[in-house]
Amino acid sequence: MRHAIPVEELGPQAHAMAQAVASCVHCGFCLPACPTYLTLGEEMDSPRGRILLMKGVLEGELALADALPYVDRCLGCLGCVTACPSGVEYGELLAPFRALTEKQRSRPLLERITRLLANQTLPYPGRFRAAARLGKLARPLQNFLPVPMRAMLGLLPEKLPASQPLPSLIPVTGRQRARVALLAGCAQQVLAPEINWATLRVLARNGVEVVIPPGQGCCGALSMHNGEAGQARRLARRNLGIFDPDDVDAIISNAAGCGSGMHEYPLLFAGSGDEKRAEQFAAKVQDISVFLDKLGIETPPPLSAPLRVAYHDACHLAHAQGVRDAPRRLLNAIPGVTLAPIAEGEICCGSAGTYNIEQPELAQQLGQRKANSVAATRADLLVTGNIGCMTQISNHLGRLGKPLPVLHTIQLLDQAYTQ
Ligand code: SF4
Ligand code: SF4
Repeated sequence: MRHAIPVEELGPQAHAMAQAVASCVHCGFCLPACPTYLTLGEEMDSPRGRILLMKGVLEGELALADALPYVDRCLGCLGCVTACPSGVEYGELLAPFRALTEKQRSRPLLERITRLLANQTLPYPGRFRAAARLGKLARPLQNFLPVPMRAMLGLLPEKLPASQPLPSLIPVTGRQRARVALLAGCAQQVLAPEINWATLRVLARNGVEVVIPPGQGCCGALSMHNGEAGQARRLARRNLGIFDPDDVDAIISNAAGCGSGMHEYPLLFAGSGDEKRAEQFAAKVQDISVFLDKLGIETPPPLSAPLRVAYHDACHLAHAQGVRDAPRRLLNAIPGVTLAPIAEGEICCGSAGTYNIEQPELAQQLGQRKANSVAATRADLLVTGNIGCMTQISNHLGRLGKPLPVLHTIQLLDQAYTQ
């Protein structure tokens, strides 16, 4: 790949970007797997189209402004990576491209304000909780607010759960089988703190000691996704200094986006003094479902009544981390659970970080599409492994008039143990 943008500006990720561009053979197998192509039917809104657009910009043959609308509509869901027979690592092109071009583009004032609000509140639980409380007060005025801000308010739950600070260690009372560290997360801690508590209970039940290192923060995945590489590195570096990968068997994430973001730390720190530490850290990161599946769990007692469960594959578990079977095996281990497949299961629900705020119309269409598929399963319950998907699908099932309880995989397992 020639570089109209000087290669030193592309930085150490230049090789990965060039590799992704060069390995695309334009076959088009990824098109039906792409949610924006399915919805808009435009070649330039497909993975193949976006790769060509980004190549054109990097080689100086296309103005950045001509490519941006299409690249901005990309969810970063990586459905195309799963579908691609040539192994194109699209994510290794998209994230650095966004980071690089963020510095070169100018955004309208409203967009800048919205991004600033999202970037400066969502990764920080204290600030996010305060902003969410203010947002709830502003709800009666929401019809007078611009669409992205209305979308932000729409994501807040009716009732904000009380803050539930976590201890720094949960020891095991019986035989200890493993010791792990938990990433407590950021927005999830505010919206659904019970996911962390369910994680701790299930780990303890299965003989796993858990350290929750104090002072930890957001993993940086959201900033990475938004092209804010500087902020992503600052947040990630803090966790690199706080977690000790040598002290634990695994670093556990219970949010698909965070797990996937932490697996990308080596790419984020490529060529820097933190690269080796980032590799050691990433090698220990496991989604809670993968860890428990490998460990082997105590079989829960039979449910009092049979339960038909629709399991939704979060993109950042299925496409980004290749995790599909482990959560299903855990759910199937609960006597009384039957899994109901969701049609078009590989298609993103439209949550995708801050996509609801940045592309509200498309996010809405994809949310509706997913809610229709979930409703068609006639399941009693929807289960998934990511807070963003939980919020998005729950909202759209409600709008469809077919509300359904929505739980994290670990919550259903916890409930099965404690029923
Ligand atoms: S990304 Fe993969 S599937 Fe899509 S056009 Fe390129 S080679 Fe084909
Ligand atoms: S990441 Fe998702 S939305 Fe973006 S091009 Fe790939 S499949 Fe399409």
